[in-house]
Amino acid sequence: MPPPKVVRGDESMIIVMRADASRADIDHVVERLTAIGADAHVSVGQVRTVIGAIGDRTLIQQLPFEAFPGVERAVPVLKPFKFVSRDFQPAESVVTVGGVPLGGGAFTMIAGPCAVESREQLFTTAGIVAKGGAAILRGDAFKPRTSPYSFQGLGKQGLELLAEAREEFGLPFVCEVVDPRDVEVVASYADMIRIGTRNMANFTLLAELGRQPKPVMLKRGFTATIEEWLNAAEYVYKEGNHQIVLCERGIRTFESQTRNTLDISAVPVVKSLSHLPVVVDPSHAGGRRALVAPLTRAAMAVGADGVMIEVHPHPDRALCDSAQQLTTRNFQRLMDRMRKLSSALDVQLGEAGHKE
Ligand code: PEP
Ligand code: MN
Repeated sequence: MPPPKVVRGDESMIIVMRADASRADIDHVVERLTAIGADAHVSVGQVRTVIGAIGDRTLIQQLPFEAFPGVERAVPVLKPFKFVSRDFQPAESVVTVGGVPLGGGAFTMIAGPCAVESREQLFTTAGIVAKGGAAILRGDAFKPRTSPYSFQGLGKQGLELLAEAREEFGLPFVCEVVDPRDVEVVASYADMIRIGTRNMANFTLLAELGRQPKPVMLKRGFTATIEEWLNAAEYVYKEGNHQIVLCERGIRTFESQTRNTLDISAVPVVKSLSHLPVVVDPSHAGGRRALVAPLTRAAMAVGADGVMIEVHPHPDRALCDSAQQLTTRNFQRLMDRMRKLSSALDVQLGEAGHKE
């Protein structure tokens, strides 16, 4: 009996097709891989197709990929996460969210309420963050709550309000999707779709988001290692969506003075391993209003591509996360200080108006 075929995930090559490669060029690569017993994972992106080859590395390396029609280059990648790794793409990715670039040097401010609660609450907050200089609005229509009795979000009505606020204030918006069945409706409204910490390892949801065209913000699971987080991003990328922003939001440790422990070192670590932009969520990390400004400064100093901050016109009346949402004044002061810090650190602050 022949020995069972062992497919080791660490024996791999990525074949990057040229932007003008034809279907026949792609099929040819797949056929040549299949002929030597390797698996071919085809990821059709908006700009180019990439093919992951998994199988016997010695046999794969013997194929003259760069002589095949339509192939730009072939890159050996030994890490478990491949497409999102720096080995695959040395240059940093820039993700464009409704015209606003994320990554590539600037520090982008994303701000807004935890949840959309009403038209008045959303519009007041959007006005505050737009005036303060945020480039992207946040606000959730679907909330994953620890208690099933807590406010779960306004659903489709919340999405409609966010779309209206986008028109009114000229800010693209990011919001969370919790259920794979809602991906289509959320994608039809949002400029970027967020996967929350509780769903980082929901592989059905990740794959579903990989099959739709809107950029994805992937939060780190609060018990996930960096490698698990990058593997989760790989699920999205592999399905064809290459527009992924990672968000460090703190992890669960023995420390109880903060809601979570912001793993600030994850930012440079992830940036060395991956080409994807990385933002920090100081609101859910600290869990307290007073910690948001210092953690935001840390995020800029450590080289993050931006932050996502919760703001509410009346945090004491907020339906969720009231302890961590900034007031109007808190937000304005934070923006003033970030402008000063950005000039001291020579980082461009990605504010409203800095569209491509
Ligand atoms: C949020 O950003 O509102 C949120 C629910 O965050 P997390 O998934 O990090 O808890
Ligand atoms: Mn929140």
